[in-house]
Amino acid sequence: MLKIHNLHVSIGGKEILKGLSLELAPGQVHAIMGPNGAGKSTLGNVLAGREGYEVTQGSIELEGRDLLALEPEERAAAGVFLAFQYPVEIPGVNNTYFLRTALNAQRKARGEGELDSMQFLKRVREKLSVLDLKDELLHRGVNEGFSGGEKKRNEIFQLALLEPKLAILDETDSGLDIDALKAVADGVNLMRSPERAFLVITHYQRLLDYIKPDVVHVLADGRIVESGGPELALELEAHGYAWVKDRIAPQA
Ligand code: ADP
Ligand code: MG
Ligand code: MG
Repeated sequence: MLKIHNLHVSIGGKEILKGLSLELAPGQVHAIMGPNGAGKSTLGNVLAGREGYEVTQGSIELEGRDLLALEPEERAAAGVFLAFQYPVEIPGVNNTYFLRTALNAQRKARGEGELDSMQFLKRVREKLSVLDLKDELLHRGVNEGFSGGEKKRNEIFQLALLEPKLAILDETDSGLDIDALKAVADGVNLMRSPERAFLVITHYQRLLDYIKPDVVHVLADGRIVESGGPELALELEAHGYAWVKDRIAPQA
């Protein structure tokens, strides 16, 4: 589904990703772990097509298509979804309106008809019953006054509505209490399907107790330095990232 080959990315002339390669098959959940500043968010942002990132080398293919040639909206239409580390608040913009606009933009780009408000509400009700989200949150401003946990649940709700092929969660666990963490993980687990792949970016192992990844990658200094099964996350938890750093540049 996703093939990243020898990806080099710079921000303002400084190289952040330095030859990253990664392959993700449909139905799989891959976790990306790594120390702060390793380039994890950079990877997520480049996949989503955010501005300010210069790809200097390498390729990214989604289902055989050149992802780098697509605009952010086209990527969303192609099924790429990025949930942000710090969800933005958009006071005054009704959350339901926001979600409907996002869904209809995606449908339009796919050449599908827009949903009217009745059809949209029907879709919302289906998804609401699946997730533990209070419908009151749909009538407030986007993330306005939401708690950390509510913001994350709202993101998972967006994910459920948009039904992406590739869902990227960037530190969706940061700052969550255990109940919110479980709600996010439940949402992700419900959304797992043979047609959908997840890239779960996380600094801590905790989330991976609830979302069982097929593969764990360690990203350090702009590259994948280690890949393995779920046990790799536990090893990292036990030994810390210094352990990985020693393996990249062994001390003399
Ligand atoms: P991670 O998510 O793994 O903590 P990031 O991808 O956010 O790492 O950042 C990787 C490196 O890129 C860091 O050194 C960070 O300071 C730098 N960086 C990230 N975003 C920007 C930016 N907008 N401008 C300049 N440097 C940036
Ligand atoms: Mg960071
Ligand atoms: Mg980050």
